[in-house]
Parts: sequence; C-alpha cells; structure tokens
Amino acid sequence: MQILNGNEVSKSIREQIKQEVIKLKASGGKTPHLAAILVGTDGASMTYVGAKEKDCMEVGFDSTVLRFPATTTEDELLAEVEKINNNPEIDGLIVQLPLPKHIKEKRITEAISYKKDVDGFHPMNVGLMFKGLPCFLPATPFGIVKLLEHYKIDTTGKHCVIVGRSDIVGKPMSILMLQKNCTVSICHSKTTDIEAHIQRADIVIAAVGIPEFVKGSMIKEGAVVVDVGITRVEDTTAKNGFRLKGDVEYASCAEKASFITPVPGGVGPMTRVGLLLNTLNAIKMK
Ligand code: NAP
Repeated sequence: MQILNGNEVSKSIREQIKQEVIKLKASGGKTPHLAAILVGTDGASMTYVGAKEKDCMEVGFDSTVLRFPATTTEDELLAEVEKINNNPEIDGLIVQLPLPKHIKEKRITEAISYKKDVDGFHPMNVGLMFKGLPCFLPATPFGIVKLLEHYKIDTTGKHCVIVGRSDIVGKPMSILMLQKNCTVSICHSKTTDIEAHIQRADIVIAAVGIPEFVKGSMIKEGAVVVDVGITRVEDTTAKNGFRLKGDVEYASCAEKASFITPVPGGVGPMTRVGLLLNTLNAIKMK
C-alpha cells in the first residue's frame, strides 16, 4: 500500500507555481491577485481563509481578504461582489461558505463573474467543465485529479465509484473521472446496497461527510481509496478540542488498498493547491 501524500505533492506544485510567478513578474506580467470574502466569525471559515492567504503569500500572489460582519445583508454583499467583478486588479474571487442563513449562497456565488470564479461554482464554469472546455474546475475534484496523475494511477477503463453527489465534490468529480476514461458510478443517500457498488470499485472516492463510512470490508483488494471527508470530532486531548476524521476507516481500508489518502494530509492540501492553480490560470486565460 502506498500513501497518496497530498502534503508532499501540493508542496511540489506550490513550488512550480512560485517559479511561474517569478517568471511572470520578470517578464512584466501581472501578479496574480486572489480576493476572499469572509462574512461572520465562523471558526472553521476563518481558518480556511487564513490558510488560503498563507498559500498566496508562499507562491508570490497578492491576496486581499474582505471581512464583513454576520449582519451584512444580501444586497450589501452583492454590491461588494460587483465591486470586485469590476476591479481589474483582482483576478480571482472566492466567497467563503457557509454564509449566514439570511443570505442565499446561490445568489452570491452566481453573482461572481465567471471569469473570476476560481472556485468553479458558477453555472458557466460548470457547463464549460461538462463540455471539457477551458474553465475553472472546482478545487477539490481538480486537486484529486492532480494527485492521481502525480502517482500515475491508471484510470482508463477502471470503475470509479464516487460516494456523494454534491455540486462541489461528487458531481464534478464524476465528470472529471469520465474525462479520464473511467466507468463512473455515483452513490448517494438513496442508493440501495451501496456496499455492492463500492465492492466493485477500482477507485473509490468518498465525499459523504460521515466519519469512517467506508470500511475495509466494503472495498476490493487493491482498490485506490480517496477520502474527501473532513468532519471535526470532539477530542479533549487535542489542543483545539477536536480532530479531523475522514469518510474512510483508514486502518481497515489501508490493509486492502493499493493507494490511499490520509486525513489530514491527503485531499485537503490538494484542494488548496487547486485554488492556486485556478488563480494562476485566471491570468493565463485573460
Ligand atoms: P454534502 O454536500 O453534504 O454531500 C454529501 C453527499 O453524501 C450527498 O450527496 C449525500 O446524498 C451523500 N450521503 C449522505 N449520507 C449518505 C449515506 N448514508 N449513504 C450514501 N450517501 C450519503 O457534502 P460535500 O460538500 O460533498 O462534502 C463531503 C465531505 O467532504 C464533508 O466531510 C466535507 O467537509 C468534505 N470536504 C472536504 C474537502 C477537502 O478539501 N478535503 C472539500 C470539500 C468537502 P444526498 O445527495 O442523497 O443527500
């Protein structure tokens, strides 16, 4: 069994991006600039935005974080998005989710210009991805593809079972794996006999949000196992009072898998690098 080490792979991709940015600047090109909107003070959201800021700094991007109180109205937020859409200095914009309940996330994410939508959530980018045309790919599926490519995992003719059908992970993942010539099955909460589906998979991608949902007994010998899940579970022994659990029961799956992602250190850092690649592409696509 080999670990799909997202920490290592993302580090090497960040280094490549850094070198590209140096070249870009040396040739008089624009420094990629990512803006993030953060509404409220949700702890996890603040951590994610802080990590994205740090990533930008490491690769030489400019970054701006716009922080707004949880009482911000939908119209006020839409006006801020519009300002950034029209600001030529900013190449990519992300709005950290979740937003406070009184704001319709769909309205906000769809207000972001698709040319700056580096999260790849805008319907225009979804359509372009579906057609296999140049676009911003959602960061998590994009990062997973990069990880599989790094380890030269053969996907052609393989059966890929994706557990979860969310707009940001499961559905786009299925399109990207189809483009990589997999035969794809997507399972969800209404799937009957999910175990039988997972058992047939050469590649299992778990994006359910239920800790340790996929057990070793469910997978085929030699399967490639990708764990997208990150659920915070209480842990009084941990410094911050919680630890992250994946959707895969790691110990039992690692015994049978040929490749497996750990949590943390697997898909998470690849998602972050997916966002950086999209921001760099925002400059290239101009
Ligand atoms: P989501 O929007 O909640 O979707 C979960 C999916 O799992 C849904 O499609 C749901 O089916 C399905 N599901 C729920 N219970 C099920 C069951 N018992 N059997 C089969 N399928 C079931 O979640 P998400 O945004 O895709 O995220 C999934 C997990 O990945 C979460 O832990 C999230 O925190 C994590 N995540 C991690 C990263 C990263 O960078 N590592 C990025 C994004 C997300 P229905 O559609 O039928 O309800």
